[in-house]
Amino acid sequence: MIIPPAPVPNRPSLLMSNVWALSLAGASIIFLMIVAAVDRSGFYVLISALIMAGVFLIAHRSYVKRMEASQKAVNESSRYAHALEERTAALRDSEQRFRSAFKYAPIGIALVSPDGRWVKVNKALCDILGYTPEEFLSMHVSQVIFPDDLAQALASVDDLITGRAVNCQMEQRYIHKSGWTVWASWSASAASEAWSEAPHLIFQIQDITDRKVAEEQLQHEATHDALTGLPNRAYFVSRLTKALAKAKRDPKYSVSVLFIDLDRFKYVNDSLGHFIGDNLLMAIADRLGECMRPPDIIARLGGDEFTILVEGRYYTEKASRIAERIQEKFSEPFQVHGHEIYSSASIGILVASDRYDSAEDIMRDADTAMYYAKRAGRARHETFDEYMHLRAKETLRLETDLRRALERNEVQVRYQPIYDLRTMKPTGVEALARWTHPELGDISPSRFIPLAEETGLIDEVLDQVMRRACLEMREVYVHAPNGDQLKLSVNLSCRQFAGADLLSRIRNILDETGYAASQLKLEITESVFIEYQERAIEMLHKIREMGIELDIDDFGTGYSNLSYLVRLPISTLKIDRSFVCPINDDGANIEIVRTILALARNLGLTVVAEGIETEEQVRSLIDLDCERGQGFLLSKPLTAAGLKELLDRGEETPLLPMHYDDISTVSTLQ
Ligand code: C2E
Ligand code: MG
Ligand code: MG
Repeated sequence: MIIPPAPVPNRPSLLMSNVWALSLAGASIIFLMIVAAVDRSGFYVLISALIMAGVFLIAHRSYVKRMEASQKAVNESSRYAHALEERTAALRDSEQRFRSAFKYAPIGIALVSPDGRWVKVNKALCDILGYTPEEFLSMHVSQVIFPDDLAQALASVDDLITGRAVNCQMEQRYIHKSGWTVWASWSASAASEAWSEAPHLIFQIQDITDRKVAEEQLQHEATHDALTGLPNRAYFVSRLTKALAKAKRDPKYSVSVLFIDLDRFKYVNDSLGHFIGDNLLMAIADRLGECMRPPDIIARLGGDEFTILVEGRYYTEKASRIAERIQEKFSEPFQVHGHEIYSSASIGILVASDRYDSAEDIMRDADTAMYYAKRAGRARHETFDEYMHLRAKETLRLETDLRRALERNEVQVRYQPIYDLRTMKPTGVEALARWTHPELGDISPSRFIPLAEETGLIDEVLDQVMRRACLEMREVYVHAPNGDQLKLSVNLSCRQFAGADLLSRIRNILDETGYAASQLKLEITESVFIEYQERAIEMLHKIREMGIELDIDDFGTGYSNLSYLVRLPISTLKIDRSFVCPINDDGANIEIVRTILALARNLGLTVVAEGIETEEQVRSLIDLDCERGQGFLLSKPLTAAGLKELLDRGEETPLLPMHYDDISTVSTLQ
């Protein structure tokens, strides 16, 4: 509160009026004395008296002036003293206010000497960093700053001391007396002190640890996988982008990516449940971590896909060595909540060359290499090379061209007869898709069917093959003798069980073409049960209810759990070519075929042996009482016209008919 100063009395004017009253009295006395002297002493005395009076007056005047001046000086000094008093009081007030502000401020405040020693600290700062004021005063500022943040802090302080900056602000880490990290936002400004040449610094330090922890938490969640705690795709791609930029600047800097996909992980989830699946993924993440150096980054892209980034100055073979180490580590089973689980991984390696400008391209090609590793039999690694690059480019082109071919209805069908080995007469035909590329020539189904599956064109392929086959077979039934005895087998792709409309598609085609469901068989592979399990079983029952028969194709190459066989409405097992092929001259290597035949008999199923190429094989199969056979020896896939001609001839044991299509299926069926 400011107290108004008390009114000061006007002392100089009072004094002066007294002086003037005295002077007037003096002059009157002199005047009376003169009058009395003139009466008694005459004129000369009068003159002397007048002179005396004049001298007196002059002396009086100068005296009055001096009095006035001195009075003024007295007044001035009293005013000055008053003002000084006021200012001192205000200063004391403000210092008092500053002291309590400093002392009780909710944020840390400190005065720091130019050489970085704490000079004064407040309570809040002591609370923030855990030191007492005395401990602070014996320390240097750098002793409480986090080592990694020190250089930046010192640079800013230097700017302040040298006058390059008036103030500065920063967020950085400090070390609490107990050793933990304290995040603080600090601002500092220079405060000149009369007694020192270099300015002192006033720091304001605010504890922001809670905010930082929350921010870090959010940041972590946005860049890490919740299950394994590993970096996620976004983080991996950003690190890969940075590594790539480094490699562009420094030719000796290498960047490699390992793309890891677990083999058959889905079965773990499906058979042991998601809880075990999740725990296995965590165990796998740990084991992958053991295969790398600390600077390498491992990320989980999602599902069962992981990636590793290897960057720095190293020999490029290093990535392959990491892959080998991973394979080695995976040879040990994982122990997950009482389950012993063997897992393996297919790994694609990409060593980035100058050709790569983006992380996405690197990821794509590493993924392609992984795909090759899978195709080559899983549990192995493949390095992306020029061949894969060309294939990848070709695949891209084929995809476009296949789309166009389907739009133009260019996919053709060939029919490979299936023979009754007892009568040596055809009992059915298998429809096989054919595509002749305008420039690349015949493309094997083994190439374009997987492509159609990947790109979602497989339903189109089925529509076209089945529609065409139904129409052409109806012609065969009408024009060829005993044509209507032949059942038509159409291949279904496993992926088609994922779609909701498979059944309605089949029904529509039958309605459209007027083909009888009872004359149709659909071939499926065992992988359908592995991939879709109950869903597949349900769909297959519905197909069977439509009057369509079901055959298991390539039997023996899939999952070893055969329990599904009894649950399915299937009628035929087609023994894969790989079991028929080894049957040699003396009928050796027939044991697997014999076993499959016994199994089929017990389940009441018919057996077709696929890929019969030699007479020895036919003979052995007949000896084993295998009912049916299919293979180049009996007939290669034929055009519809070729099939009619075959039936027209009515041969019982046909030897390479005239109109087979000479597409190089032998070499492509791998
Ligand atoms: P698949 O269903 O097992 O068909 C039999 C394959 O074996 C055919 O190959 C056939 O030409 C070949 N083959 C038959 N006899 C012999 C033989 O004695 N020796 C040899 N080496 N091969 C023989 P293709 O036509 O190349 O078809 C390959 C595979 O492509 C088929 O195997 C089938 O899985 C798939 N495929 C063909 N057409 C279609 C289709 O329209 N839809 C679907 N989803 N898949 C199809
Ligand atoms: Mg087939
Ligand atoms: Mg087959």
